[in-house]
Amino acid sequence: MKRFLRTAAIALTCALAALALVACASQPSGEAAMFKAGTYTGVGAGKNGTVTVKTTFTATAIKSVEVVKHGETPGISDPAIARVPASIVKNQTLAVDVVSGVSLTSKAIIDAVADCVKQAGGSVDKLQTKAGAEKMTAGAAIEKSADVVIVGGGGAGLAAAVSAAQSGAKVVLIEKAPALGGNTIRAGGAYNAVDQARQQKVKMTKPLLGDLKAFLAIDEATVGEFGPTLKTLKGQINAYLASGSDTLFDSVELHMMQAYFGGKRVDLKGNEIHSNLELVRTLATNSPKAMDWLESLGLHFTDNIYTVLGALWPRTHSTNKPVGTGFIGTLSDNATKLGVEIMLETKADELITQKGRVVGVKATKADGTKVTLKASKGVIMATGGFGANPAMRAKYNTYWPSMPLTMPTTNAPTATGDGIVMGEKVGANLVGMGFIQLMPSSHPVSGSLAGGLWGSAESQVFVNSQGKRFVNEYAERDVLAAGALKQEKGLFYIICDQVTAGNPQPGAKNGWGDDIDTLIKNHDVYKADTLAGLEQQLKMPAGSLQAEIAKYNGYIEAGVDPEFGKRNFGPKLTQGPFYATPRSPSVHHTMGGIAIDTQARVLDAKGQAIPGFYAAGEVTGGIHAGNRLGGNAIADIMVFGRIAGASAAAAK
Ligand code: ADP
Repeated sequence: MKRFLRTAAIALTCALAALALVACASQPSGEAAMFKAGTYTGVGAGKNGTVTVKTTFTATAIKSVEVVKHGETPGISDPAIARVPASIVKNQTLAVDVVSGVSLTSKAIIDAVADCVKQAGGSVDKLQTKAGAEKMTAGAAIEKSADVVIVGGGGAGLAAAVSAAQSGAKVVLIEKAPALGGNTIRAGGAYNAVDQARQQKVKMTKPLLGDLKAFLAIDEATVGEFGPTLKTLKGQINAYLASGSDTLFDSVELHMMQAYFGGKRVDLKGNEIHSNLELVRTLATNSPKAMDWLESLGLHFTDNIYTVLGALWPRTHSTNKPVGTGFIGTLSDNATKLGVEIMLETKADELITQKGRVVGVKATKADGTKVTLKASKGVIMATGGFGANPAMRAKYNTYWPSMPLTMPTTNAPTATGDGIVMGEKVGANLVGMGFIQLMPSSHPVSGSLAGGLWGSAESQVFVNSQGKRFVNEYAERDVLAAGALKQEKGLFYIICDQVTAGNPQPGAKNGWGDDIDTLIKNHDVYKADTLAGLEQQLKMPAGSLQAEIAKYNGYIEAGVDPEFGKRNFGPKLTQGPFYATPRSPSVHHTMGGIAIDTQARVLDAKGQAIPGFYAAGEVTGGIHAGNRLGGNAIADIMVFGRIAGASAAAAK
């Protein structure tokens, strides 16, 4: 009110003044100048790099704020970019609320405006202590009924929403962030599927053949209930070898066995874990079908087949849209068309049960409004993992010798394990909670996946600050992360030459849409014409990187890496310019979670389905066991999200 009165008083003074508005704007009567009027450009550090802002000041006011350049994730960062500048101008303060779920982008904008304030001679301190944005007040309680209520608007929740609505259900989806997308929109967008049509174009290589033949030597008796799957796979491999084909081999059984071996782990307490056979079969069998389904909804997969880091086989697909945006955009458009009601900034607090059946959800909107949602057929939990909840990570971790609370994460800040807590309260069994995936190649400061430059897993070379390799770069992510954590400060560099970097030209962007020239300018990526030049920039011992790459090129030529056992190589690194991306492990995926069956029904400790309760995506456990293969998460959330939607819609 005070602010309104002051503004009204200035307006009145101006209206009466002969010099009218122009003069008023530059120097209202009675107010001391706070800024040197003009437009200034400032920067702040966001999740994915620099956020650049233009701020225009009059002598006494912040007149406008505009975000002019940023590399933040499209979709996710939009609410911060829309709201924070408007709130700063409206309230004439830097003490505005950050937008929940987009706090890093919000803070980057505030810091960038603070930078402008400094340049304009203003007091950042005063503006930071001035009262912030007006407080929100709760509205009247909301009550709604639907057939299916979905909690979480990431990939799994949206796939479930579309699938349930396609099955004729009335669907309400709630999402606690101000935008849809969760971790899915930030993910690399890599999707593993056995897809013979696209894979036809890929030739079998000697190392891949070696990997394949290695399965023939494994005794079926050693893989438990996966024995019959291995037997089928061996038959397929023998038939393939007899055929003399040079086209890439792949099969559902190979995908299953790789998920089995990739995920079979023993934790620090000696507990062994491996994937649930039927869940993995459901994943591998249905991921190609879910791809067809997504294409029927308008998503376009490119013909490019590659091996995303830790995928172990070239069956990774990507869409023609950056990172996870294609999945979220396509699914949310279809959900809206199908009449799904989406409530943003609505956080589920607890499940409502009646005689052992889950019948609804209690939630709270960001302004404090209480929401009760009744679900006649079922509730689908799709709240993602707990990678952004340091206390929960520390509580459950049994795999990593240490999991510092300060370890950065690739995750959305909303990945706080809410669904696991809510599910446990109604009797859901939790499986594999101790196994947390670290993404080896994350930004050392922000923890983000973005902000770097590299090619397919075969072609990546990891070196430490001494210019020395330390791991087989084609290995699983936990092997890579464990190797990285043993290096000084957990830091390493991914080295590429011009070819393995994807031949970037001036103005080119990486897969996350980051401008590569800007990454180089900000030292997120280093570039030099020669390896000697890179050594100098990275302060490596003279000659170290040159010798290491020469040795590595020799391994490629020989087809063997006697040091670390790498077999799947990209081309030799010979063509300058050379690039180095500094990386360090950060928390990426929580493999454990709510137990489900192949119908995405939530199971209790006795293995019985809890009526009315379904779950899909990272909130669930059992599929990836101790280590998820790169590229299997998006496939998982699409497959099981789709199943959960259909199952809940069909419930009686
Ligand atoms: P998945 O890959 O399993 O779909 P994501 O991380 O992509 O997981 O999406 C999970 C979504 O659930 C996120 O958008 C997150 O903000 C949302 N979410 C998490 N907890 C809650 C909650 N308590 N209420 C509503 N939405 C939630």
